[in-house]
Amino acid sequence: MNSWPSDKPSPVWMSLSRETFEAPKLEGEAHAYAVIVGGGISGLTTALALARRGRKVIVLEARRVGYGASGRANGQ
Ligand SMILES: Cc1cc2nc3c(=O)[nH]c(=O)nc-3n(C[C@H](O)[C@H](O)[C@H](O)COP(=O)(O)OP(=O)(O)OC[C@H]3O[C@@H](n4cnc5c(N)ncnc54)[C@H](O)[C@@H]3O)c2cc1C
Repeated sequence: MNSWPSDKPSPVWMSLSRETFEAPKLEGEAHAYAVIVGGGISGLTTALALARRGRKVIVLEARRVGYGASGRANGQ
């Protein structure tokens, strides 16, 4: 029997992606224009928008990118 929410969401769009992504753990001190908490669609969209404007952004994700609702969505 499946339990939900799963600790390891595996959305089809993630499994089909040719890109892989590994982010380093934050250690020591870091400085940025903005620090975003959460690597879901909201946080990553905000980070991308700021980065495109030349801003340095740090995204803090407690588990892994797409862990939350964004990794479980149907994409409709
Ligand atoms: C089963 C399901 C199906 C869905 N289907 C659709 C759909 O078809 N179409 C649609 O438009 N929407 C859909 N949604 C809704 C959509 O997925 C959400 O509205 C959207 O993904 C929310 O994105 P978010 O970035 O705000 O949150 P999330 O994706 O939940 O991201 C939040 C992130 O923050 C991290 N986090 C939390 N606390 C901390 C902390 N203290 N420090 C660091 N990181 C932290 C979490 O680990 C998580 O990765 C669906 C949702 C679900 C659950």
